[in-house]
Amino acid sequence: MSRHARRVADCQRGIASHPLKIPAFFPDSPLPIRQVLRPELLRHGWSLLLDTLFPATCPLCRREMAQPNQICAACLPELPRQPENYCLRCGMATKGVQRGCGHCEQDPDFAADASYFAYCYEGQIAKWLVGMKFSDHSEWSRLLGWLAWQRLQRELTWESPDMLVPVPLHPYRLIARRYNQSALLARALAGWLNRPLQTNALHRIKRTQPQTHLNGIQRAVNLRGAFHARNTVVQGRSVLLVDDVFTTGATTQTAVRALKEAGAKRVAVTCLAAVQHGQAQDQENPFTDTPSFG
Ligand SMILES: [Zn+2]
Ligand SMILES: [Zn+2]
Repeated sequence: MSRHARRVADCQRGIASHPLKIPAFFPDSPLPIRQVLRPELLRHGWSLLLDTLFPATCPLCRREMAQPNQICAACLPELPRQPENYCLRCGMATKGVQRGCGHCEQDPDFAADASYFAYCYEGQIAKWLVGMKFSDHSEWSRLLGWLAWQRLQRELTWESPDMLVPVPLHPYRLIARRYNQSALLARALAGWLNRPLQTNALHRIKRTQPQTHLNGIQRAVNLRGAFHARNTVVQGRSVLLVDDVFTTGATTQTAVRALKEAGAKRVAVTCLAAVQHGQAQDQENPFTDTPSFG
């Protein structure tokens, strides 16, 4: 037994009359100092400190929550849900559930086979999505994906797509924002739906202008040739195209057409929130002046 170990043993038996000094990183120390420095305990202590300094809160009302990434019971029912009766093709409100309506059947450019929207793009949902998009809150995507899944589980399970494809950002835009909010939502949905996420099926090859102040014709010109889909990935497959917000539908329908031109058998669209008919069209970014390249 080494001299140090003997002194430790004496001390533990209570027979040493002198104070025992234990070096902080002494390799043979049998005392709790090495247990205190165990990585898992350090990690636990660090997360405890973070929880104390930055407690988990509801992202909408800032009420303190037991776990991060949760919405409180008061805010959840306040989210503006999509109407119960809607057109299965374009997702717009109708008097009864139907496939095809005056909106999509009269639009020769409308290309989607089905559209599923979880919420109306207004109120807290709009504020929340703008926060995720422009204020660097990518961590909200999992919770928003879960909310979309809660609302659309039945429809998306029935749709049973071969793959989920997010509406892509132009590479310059992606570098500036650091993440594609639609891809984060699509990843969350793909996990719940247990279907593969394909981020290389559709590419944005043209840097389009902000669309907020463009009319319908200007949007169509702006988006012409904006997307390229890879036929080796989508040929003969059914695709669920995922976007965060559906406003006029110009971006989404251009992407749908690109996927179909590349041979996709069926393309359904799902968005977390949509502007319904009768809502102002200029709602792409109602809370900030930051331009949208959606
Ligand atoms: Zn809340
Ligand atoms: Zn319709």
